[in-house]
Amino acid sequence: MTTVVRTIADLRATLAAARLEGREVGFVPTMGYLHEGHRSLMREAAAHNDTTVVSIFVNPLQFAPTEDLDRYPRDLERDVQMASDEGVSHVFAPSQQEMYPERIVTTVNVAGVSEPLEGASRPSHFAGVATVVTKLFAIVGPCRAYFGEKDFQQLAVIRRLVFDLSMPIDIVACPTIREPDGLAMSSRNVNLTADARRAAPVLLRALQAGKHAIEGGERDAMQVRRAMRAVVESEPLVDLDYAEVVDESTFVIPTPLTGTLRPLIAARLPHARLIDNIGAQV
Ligand code: AMP
Repeated sequence: MTTVVRTIADLRATLAAARLEGREVGFVPTMGYLHEGHRSLMREAAAHNDTTVVSIFVNPLQFAPTEDLDRYPRDLERDVQMASDEGVSHVFAPSQQEMYPERIVTTVNVAGVSEPLEGASRPSHFAGVATVVTKLFAIVGPCRAYFGEKDFQQLAVIRRLVFDLSMPIDIVACPTIREPDGLAMSSRNVNLTADARRAAPVLLRALQAGKHAIEGGERDAMQVRRAMRAVVESEPLVDLDYAEVVDESTFVIPTPLTGTLRPLIAARLPHARLIDNIGAQV
């Protein structure tokens, strides 16, 4: 039986009792409108923990005023059903008032990995993410927390946050789940027009072109960017934000390209901004 918990106090009381019984707590933070990507995280968490918590909270701190906070899709009833199907013990669905009863004046900032790419395009985004994740970790007190590689830079930011602040939490990375045509699953995909949805798999094709170039011996990041950009340009509906290749843990571009690399891409389509990435090894 999955319970829906609305307040911090109720969740703390429930989890304190579970921990007293020696139960290990696994945690999956989300913004809801769950899909197969989230399902894979919940399944992994439920398989390796005695008590599993999924949070559903569309965090206003991580949206800029011009972004899609108001258009972000929501369906709590469906989300709870999916969480229940995957063996989740508690869905934590707090209101904005519960999470931020006053204007929050404490911000968690992770320098370095949060600065390029998504950090450059969305300047306050990762501070919003790091702040809410720190708050959620303080509320839930998990042994393990599960994040998708789909948001690869976010994963690097969280890893660094946990390392720097000595949080006793294992961060578990889960692979990106895709639609049959290669589009990475995302709650935002429902906001794509029919034409944009048809064009969207070009992101994965561009990443594959970048990976192919690297694995074929290309060591110049500019040439890899060029290869990715050429693929995206074949789809007029897709407006490229960035196509880049970085070291997967530092987010620095190695010169020449070497080590465990991550081609990453972001683009605007009607009417969603999408991101994706894949692994590439030299
Ligand atoms: P969100 O609800 O979009 O904030 O995502 C919550 C968690 O689910 C994050 O750790 C995401 O990286 C992860 N996630 C989102 N989409 C996918 C996907 N297609 N495959 C795997 N994990 C995902």
